[in-house]
Amino acid sequence: MPMFAKLKKYFFIPVILIVFVGGGYFFVKSPEQPSLTEVPCAFCNATILANQKFYEDELVLALISHRPIFPGHCLIIPKRHAERFEMLTNEEMTQIGLVIKKVHQAAMQEYQSASYLLLQKNGREAGQTVPHVHFHYIPKQAHDASVLVFFIKMYWSQIKKPLSNFQMQTQCKKMQAAMHTDCADETL
Ligand SMILES: [Zn+2]
Repeated sequence: MPMFAKLKKYFFIPVILIVFVGGGYFFVKSPEQPSLTEVPCAFCNATILANQKFYEDELVLALISHRPIFPGHCLIIPKRHAERFEMLTNEEMTQIGLVIKKVHQAAMQEYQSASYLLLQKNGREAGQTVPHVHFHYIPKQAHDASVLVFFIKMYWSQIKKPLSNFQMQTQCKKMQAAMHTDCADETL
């Protein structure tokens, strides 16, 4: 068997090691870490919101992720500081659902996505790092169904350079332009 074919055959071994060992390094936190309530809240930080926010209503904000797994990766959060999903009011839950639909419409238009993931973590053991409820909206392109590619991209998003303020503000303008319909419209 030619050398290249042999290398190709065993290429999956280092990839799996990188994903699982690397994933363990990033996502398994040591018990000495402070509890989430002691961590400063990035989503109540005015500077972060100024660079990443592209939507705001009475109850909900939508932000561009500074470490996108795929282009168009957004975060939908309650305006009020609440650490976990079960701490949301019924009104906040309803409005977050409506804003997710609205973000989805805008992302499909701006990033030509075909599918999307919603990801929401509650508690350190579930991988939550920011002590403020947030839904990740992660768009996927057509024919991009590989779970392995998703995990590699998720791993890579944690080690590559985050988006610059200019890049995030550019994406905010694109999403703002696409979110022109009334969010309270339940026919969305
Ligand atoms: Zn907060």
